[in-house]
Amino acid sequence: MAFVIGPHPVASVAVAGSGDRFAVRRIFCVGRNYAAHAREMGKDPDREPPFFFTKPADAVVDDGEAIAYPPLTQNLHHEAELVIAIGTDGRDIDESDALDHVWGYGIGNDLTRRDLQSAARDQGRPWDMSKGFDRSAVIGPLHPVSRSGHVSKGSIRLSVNGTLRQDGDLSDMIWAVPEIISVLSRSVTLKAGDLIMTGTPAGVGPLVPGDVCVVSIEGLGEIATTITGRESA
Ligand code: MN
Repeated sequence: MAFVIGPHPVASVAVAGSGDRFAVRRIFCVGRNYAAHAREMGKDPDREPPFFFTKPADAVVDDGEAIAYPPLTQNLHHEAELVIAIGTDGRDIDESDALDHVWGYGIGNDLTRRDLQSAARDQGRPWDMSKGFDRSAVIGPLHPVSRSGHVSKGSIRLSVNGTLRQDGDLSDMIWAVPEIISVLSRSVTLKAGDLIMTGTPAGVGPLVPGDVCVVSIEGLGEIATTITGRESA
């Protein structure tokens, strides 16, 4: 048997303090996981069950890379997020066992074409093109649990050109890491290599060409992304 196309390159993210890479299988994202952000998006932050959307694995972008302003939007937004990296397969995972499935944690920026998302929401259409576009998932180096332990609290911040835009704490997540893993694993079988972006605190806002966007999480360092002009065809 031969492939007529492919096999394709394996999407991957960096591992902190190492030359190794973590091969990415899928990227799941939690919608509305901080009450203040739910309110700024015009939604009631009641504790409804978490919901998920996805990005393609090859949307990943490393720390320090430049991203061309994407097509079809006039309102590209940043979203600072904690990223969970799954290291052990599992389905129907109990909350009490959930952390055993975590390989590590990283810092993410869930780039969003907010104007397309708002239009999709108003029309009851899917979020794919507002969330899962090319280079929409900035994921910094992953910190293995074996070295850094589990992450459940501490500041999560995002600044643009040195001005603080998002300033939250991981302990304010409506759904904590074990709950997210447990709920998601009842919907799909989680596999090693899956990443979960856990939602963003309040303060999301626009990025424009020339901006330098820095996201930091206590204990995980910081990541930087530069936005450049639109690519010409
Ligand atoms: Mn998000």
